[in-house]
Formats: sequence, structure tokens, C-alpha cells
Amino acid sequence: MTASAPQIDPPFLGEPYLLTPGPLTTSYEVKQAMLRDWGSWDDDFRAMTRDMRSRLLALLGDGAGEYDCVPMQGSGSFAVEAMLASFVPRDGKALVLANGAYGLRSAQTLQYLGRDYQLLDKGDYLPPRGDEVAQILAEDPSITHVVAIHCETSSGILNPVEEISEAVYAAGRKLLIDSMSAFGAIELQPSQIRYEAMVSSANKCIEGVPGFGFVIARKEELEAAKGNSHSLSLDVHAQWAHMEKTGQWRFTPPTHVVAAFLEALKAHEAEGGVAGRGGRYTRNRDVMVAGMRELGFETLLQNRWLSPIIVTFFCPADANFVFGRFYDLMKEKGFIIYPGKLTVVDSFRVGCIGQMDENVMRQVVTAAKETLAEMGVASAAPPAAALEERAKLAA
Ligand SMILES: *Cc1c(COP(=O)(O)O)cnc(C)c1O
Repeated sequence: MTASAPQIDPPFLGEPYLLTPGPLTTSYEVKQAMLRDWGSWDDDFRAMTRDMRSRLLALLGDGAGEYDCVPMQGSGSFAVEAMLASFVPRDGKALVLANGAYGLRSAQTLQYLGRDYQLLDKGDYLPPRGDEVAQILAEDPSITHVVAIHCETSSGILNPVEEISEAVYAAGRKLLIDSMSAFGAIELQPSQIRYEAMVSSANKCIEGVPGFGFVIARKEELEAAKGNSHSLSLDVHAQWAHMEKTGQWRFTPPTHVVAAFLEALKAHEAEGGVAGRGGRYTRNRDVMVAGMRELGFETLLQNRWLSPIIVTFFCPADANFVFGRFYDLMKEKGFIIYPGKLTVVDSFRVGCIGQMDENVMRQVVTAAKETLAEMGVASAAPPAAALEERAKLAA
């Protein structure tokens, strides 16, 4: 650890740590930044919006000058919908690469929008690969856009967006990325990976509070998006054009959330930017996964696909293990975990993001150990069916 390593706050007023992928545990400074009111038209707030947009763009590194950042009111899904509606033209067709709930939600969004799409559904956790994408694009020349999920938060899998991007642009199509739970902790530099637009939100790896998302898109795409959107409030082009002209959001901005987010961006920079943030989350994951495996728990994914964002564990086969009770006892000890989202076997998830470091993760493992003992669970080993499921990943 370097001398400049961040000081991780203990939970505020004894509140539990949120081991969840956003909302997550934020710092005291981020909460404190909200103790003021701002006028949405005022110069002070306009300056905050400008500062926030340029700080976000700076996270792209080289090549950021070709992009612009457009914040959008609402939760992350609002920003995803805004991106899809604004950049997939009405006569376009999208290929959605799904391996979990968020990929499926993008497909559902396109359905609502009345945009033509094809779905590649890999199930709960298998990654969509570049060669599969290349094959589908070769077979269907009418596909104009590919939609990929960077970290599929429902399993925690880190999807191979680099090889997907190569396949997309080799076929002359365009890539849109839902990097909601990855941006800020995992690099997404246009000099390394090509894409037209990506989307993330305030309450994930930048560690702000919920209330808005943001679209980062190539300026050419923003120009060309005029008239595409079905929705007034979710029109990315209109929001961008208005912001460029007036410095203001079109409709009431989440002023306090923006103030908190700016504070979070400053802390992100002080931590060493994307590399620093990603490094802490990686240590969080490594310490937590090693400790849980020592207790007998097994991860759904092999190490290669584990993200530093959130990790899925199989529920133990032991009949004394009941997830609801495990959850309650963990909460009593100060840790809120997350239920699983797999269809075949029971699972739960532990997030690695938010104001937590490896020392907190060691306490999480200790809490899990004590909880198993209280429940009378002798072994945390998963049922055979879970391991059979997992073997499919290696196939
Ligand atoms: C969190 C998240 C979203 C957005 O979810 P909201 O609940 O609308 O904020 C979208 N995609 C991914 C991959 C996410 O992790």
C-alpha cells in the first residue's frame, strides 16, 4: 500500500456495508456534499455540470476528444434506454449479446422501442465470443449495431468486449456498450477498444449516490442521432444540444446527486483513477474469494471470468443452509449481501465495489464463517448439480 492509499470510512452511524453493485457504500464526504441546495439555472451548478462532464471524459484517456458526455436523469436503465433509442436508428437492427438479466433487459428495451433486433442468449453466464459475433454478422447484413454488456452484473462475468469490438468493426458495424457496473474501475479507452457509445451511472464504480446515468458517445454519433429517439425526456441528442448551448440540463437536474458525484469523482482521481480504483476492487475480490473458498464456498465462474465488481457463489448443499437466514445473520454483523439470479441452482452474490477495502473483506469472510457455525452448516460445499453446471463453462 502506498502512502496515498485512500482512507476507507467506517460505515456511517453504524449502518451496514452494502456488498451490492449499487447503490453501494459511499464515503462521508460524498454524503456531506449533499448538505446544500443549488439552483438548476445558476452559474455555480452549470459549472458543476461542466466539470463533471469533463472529468468523466478524462477517464477515457487518449482519444477522449472525439467523444462527449451527456448526463441523463433517472437510474441506469433510463440511460441505457436513452442510448439505444438515440443511436439505433428506427430502420436499424441491433444484435444484443446477452448472458444475464441486463443483456435481456436491453433486448426488452429494444422491443418496447419497436427497434428490430436479434438476440444471442448465452444463458446465465457463458461469455459471448468474438467468433460467434463475427458469424452472426456475416449471416445477417441487415444488423447495424451490436449491444454488449461489459460486466454482466447478474453473474459478475466480465465479458470479452475487446474481441467483440474487433469482430463488430471488422464487419463494418457499430458497437454500443452497457458499461454500467464496470466504468471507472475497468479501462474502456477508445485508443484500446473501439465503440460508438457507452453508458454508466452515478451509483456504481465512481461511488456516487443514485439519481442519474450518463452516455459517453462519439460526437459524430451525437450529431447523427437527431430525430432518432421515440422519447422527449430520453432524447440524448436533445439533452446534448441543450447542454452545449445553455450549460443546463433540459429538465430538473438531480442537483444534490451531481454535487455528491463530483465529490466522488475527486476521490476517484485521488485514488489513482481507473487503475487505482480497479486495483482496490481487485484486491477486495481476491481477499474475499480466497477466504470464502477456504470456508468451502465455490464460485460460479472460473478465475478467468471473475470480475472485480461482484462475485456469485453457489449456496451450500447442507440442508441447514437457508439463504434468508444467512442474509439476516450477515446483516446483523454489518454486511448486506445480494441474492443470486441463476436459473438452475441457488446462489448468492457478494459485491466488491464501494467504500470498502481488503480489511473489510476479511471481516466479511469472518462474518460468513461465524454465520455458518450459527446455522449449523458443517460444509459450505455446493450440490453436485452446481458443479456440473459449472463444468459446462470449461467445455
Ligand atoms: C446497474 C446496472 C444497470 C442499470 O440498473 P438500474 O437499476 O436501472 O440502475 C444496467 N446494466 C448493468 C450491467 C448494471 O449493472
